[in-house]
Amino acid sequence: MANPLCHPPLAELLGDRYTESPFERSFYQRDLAVVPHSLARLIGQTLPDAVARPRTAEEVAAIMRYAGERKLAVTPRAAGSTTFWNAVPLHGGLLLDLNGLAGLAALDTDHLTADVWAGTRWADLERALRRRGFAVLAYPTSAPAATVAGWFCMEGHGIGSLKYGGMAGHVAGLEAVLADGHIAQIAAATPDAPTVAELAGSEGTLAVITRIRLRLRPAPAAVGHHLLRFRDMATLQAAALDLSTARPTPYYLHFADDACGRLLTQAGFPPPADGALLAITYDGAAAEVAAGAATVERAAAQTAGEELPAAAAARAWDERFLALHLKRAGPSVLGTEAWLSVSQLAAYTANVARLARRQNLPIATYGMVVAPGMATVMSLFGCDDARPLAYLLALSLTGRLYEIAFRHGGRPYGIGVWNTPYLGRAFAAEELTAQRRRKQAFDPANLLNPGKRYAPPALLWPPTFRLGMAALAGIRRIGRRWLR
Ligand SMILES: Cc1cc2nc3c(=O)[nH]c(=O)nc-3n(C[C@H](O)[C@H](O)[C@H](O)COP(=O)(O)OP(=O)(O)OC[C@H]3O[C@@H](n4cnc5c(N)ncnc54)[C@H](O)[C@@H]3O)c2cc1C
Repeated sequence: MANPLCHPPLAELLGDRYTESPFERSFYQRDLAVVPHSLARLIGQTLPDAVARPRTAEEVAAIMRYAGERKLAVTPRAAGSTTFWNAVPLHGGLLLDLNGLAGLAALDTDHLTADVWAGTRWADLERALRRRGFAVLAYPTSAPAATVAGWFCMEGHGIGSLKYGGMAGHVAGLEAVLADGHIAQIAAATPDAPTVAELAGSEGTLAVITRIRLRLRPAPAAVGHHLLRFRDMATLQAAALDLSTARPTPYYLHFADDACGRLLTQAGFPPPADGALLAITYDGAAAEVAAGAATVERAAAQTAGEELPAAAAARAWDERFLALHLKRAGPSVLGTEAWLSVSQLAAYTANVARLARRQNLPIATYGMVVAPGMATVMSLFGCDDARPLAYLLALSLTGRLYEIAFRHGGRPYGIGVWNTPYLGRAFAAEELTAQRRRKQAFDPANLLNPGKRYAPPALLWPPTFRLGMAALAGIRRIGRRWLR
């Protein structure tokens, strides 16, 4: 006989969109970062007790009211394309799979806005809008999988952000279910609810977003791609700084160091060219795209950059979603993502290269310029999650990489669980206090995504975490010959 259900009212509400099947629940125990089970177990209860797949705001509200009555943890999750366990439960409870709230609800062509369900994938939205002559202002390089609300709940910088700003500024209003089960229509600021700005980057800890009103643009009439190769990261940095502040503003400005190209080649996916590469895309009116081409030519001449053929530039754009080809060099990858000043890029990559040499481990660095003078920077290296000890030693290198980013004025981009040891260094004390007060005010019972964002779990307590990471990195360095 089957076990009795833990939460029959939810099964009644959602039918087969509610499950307690151990097999189905097991898929929600991880995100893109593969963590050995033995280590995961030490951090928290990552297996949810049940999975609920609502399709309307009313269903989300009923689930939140039910969770409130029973003090159940609720973890909102969309595509799960984050890597810091942002959408992985730490206290079991209910996993709220929001992929069923998907689609374009309304398009206002006069005011250039679209009402979009929270779980809509960016690539689907962009396709639907382009068919109607419009385009989103920006989207992440995870667009084929990532959802509109998932990116909004993270830091929301990606392709298009340099020209149009981060996603928080593209939201004209939204609908959200608060922790008490109340459905709120939130313009910029609404009484008794978090503001749009406060919800941006809140990582599912303040409310469940069900719909977003997004600002749009007319689909650009023209587009121009360019690819520059540099002899080193110092000249690449100079060109990136120049292009990011010159007019017109590029829609896309992506960089990769030569280690990235080597690792991609090793993985079986050689990039369009070797060396340190800067990919630039302009879009808009034909005159703007032509002016962009002239700007690239001038910047290349001033920084000794070599402009590569148009076909290579077009390929770099076509492959903008495929950075994780690197994983094939794995079997898995570990890494860091930092918010860093473009002026520190060359110094940062030089230090990363030094670490890679000392640890006898190739580390690829790439990223995007997403705001004037600022970039999101990924540093990735291969690892094997099937070998827990080697994995743990490799994990320590993420600590070393963040130390390098901090040294150059950077900070982790996104917190989740794995970056909670850095909270005190990522945010000013007043900002952190304000964030914790907000959490207490809008979710006093700590139902929404508990264990994330505001404080580290016991095992990641900063002083011991730092010492532990440094010790493990030292051990890895001594034993590096046997680890690869
Ligand atoms: C190949 C690749 C490329 C990437 N490129 C970028 C990039 O260009 N820029 C960037 O910023 N990030 C990037 N990321 C990171 C990640 O993809 C993005 O942050 C992404 O937008 C997350 O969307 P998601 O739907 O997967 O959200 P999930 O991972 O499912 O969730 C993210 C967070 O939001 C919360 N959440 C999700 N939906 C809701 C909701 N409806 N209401 C309340 N909370 C919710 C979750 O609890 C979690 O804390 C990339 C990742 C990969 C793997």
